[in-house]
Amino acid sequence: MDHPNLAPIFQMNYPIARRAASLSPSLTLAIDSKAKEMKAKGEDVVGFGAGEPDFDTPQHIKDAAAAALAAGFTKYTPSSGIPELRQAIADKFQRENGLTYKPSQVIVSNGGKHSCYNVILATCQEGDEVIIPAPYWLSYPEMVKLAGATPVILETTDQTEFKVTPAQLRAAITPRSRLFILNSPSNPTGSVYTPDEIKALGDVCVEKGVLIMSDEIYEHLTYDGAQVKSVASFSQAHYDHTIIVHGFAKAWSMTGWRLGFLAAPEPIAKAIDAVQSHSTSNPCSFAQKGGVAALTGSQAHLPGWLAEYAKRRTRAWEMLNAMPGVSCVNSKGAFYLFPNISKTGLKSADFCARLLEQEKVAAVPGIAFGADDYLRISYATSLANIEKGLARMERFVRSL
Ligand SMILES: *Cc1c(COP(=O)(O)O)cnc(C)c1O
Repeated sequence: MDHPNLAPIFQMNYPIARRAASLSPSLTLAIDSKAKEMKAKGEDVVGFGAGEPDFDTPQHIKDAAAAALAAGFTKYTPSSGIPELRQAIADKFQRENGLTYKPSQVIVSNGGKHSCYNVILATCQEGDEVIIPAPYWLSYPEMVKLAGATPVILETTDQTEFKVTPAQLRAAITPRSRLFILNSPSNPTGSVYTPDEIKALGDVCVEKGVLIMSDEIYEHLTYDGAQVKSVASFSQAHYDHTIIVHGFAKAWSMTGWRLGFLAAPEPIAKAIDAVQSHSTSNPCSFAQKGGVAALTGSQAHLPGWLAEYAKRRTRAWEMLNAMPGVSCVNSKGAFYLFPNISKTGLKSADFCARLLEQEKVAAVPGIAFGADDYLRISYATSLANIEKGLARMERFVRSL
């Protein structure tokens, strides 16, 4: 105890609710802060833990938010977002995805993560099951638990590029299944389902009456010509079963702005609006003006970012596959690689702890994503860092 006066407080038995006590804190954020702490002490750490772009937010977006702030746009907004932004989001879905949503079906939230949370809270409750393919984004099962529902995990491996099959999904569905969570392009694997694969999974959900939460936040970050198609776009029935989650964090590098959005069938959007109105009131006013600029302004930053990510991805993939005992399928989207380390004889948490200790390289253990034979390597970092960090990782693997 740093401060003697605090000691009695820490000895008290606080009543922590079961829903909070059952959560695991975010391991990606924990690794990131440990690496940052080592860096602050002057240690030469190479970090592959980041779940965010290393590029700055494009200037015209910052200008729009700064202008809104200067003009006094600093008050509460409608709980689901300003009409101008909801319209711009509806226009985006029409233009890019051929999907027709009214602005009233669009909810702007405090980040894509918050959008996911809203969806799960508004659709799932005690006794419900939520089907989540692993490796999964680590927040999904925790959000399901917060809603009182039960995560049902579907295992996949690198042998199938981490994709679940329609048969696997069908076998997991019970009368209690409420929601299926789809995330393509995927965090943490970088895997991208083809349009046919997406449709087949959607068909099963439609047939069985299971809702789909489709997290499409990496929609714009794909490589090798990988095609993305929203599950909502295959038929009216697919549309009626789908809630799309999206946000500004990745393709516009706006992670700190806390701005995301979703589009849903009207009754679900209404329920989410009610939840949000009693929790956050509304997303940040001037950030929303930045969101309008992001969607309606120039997208000229994106090709350069994609070219840079693609170059880093190729280099990292080559270096990983050259390490003894390591194999890695190439990622087709997002900015992650998910190498298999099972042949090194170490499990992921042990591997990452020793890698950080011995070589000062931070990577996220696959166990955080429900896949203990793997690591997550983020290539949202410079080519120089990739070459330096992965050369160190190679030395570590050879030392085992
Ligand atoms: C980054 C991310 C999000 C959203 O992040 P926010 O910063 O909350 O907008 C949602 N889903 C996945 C899979 C992500 O990686």
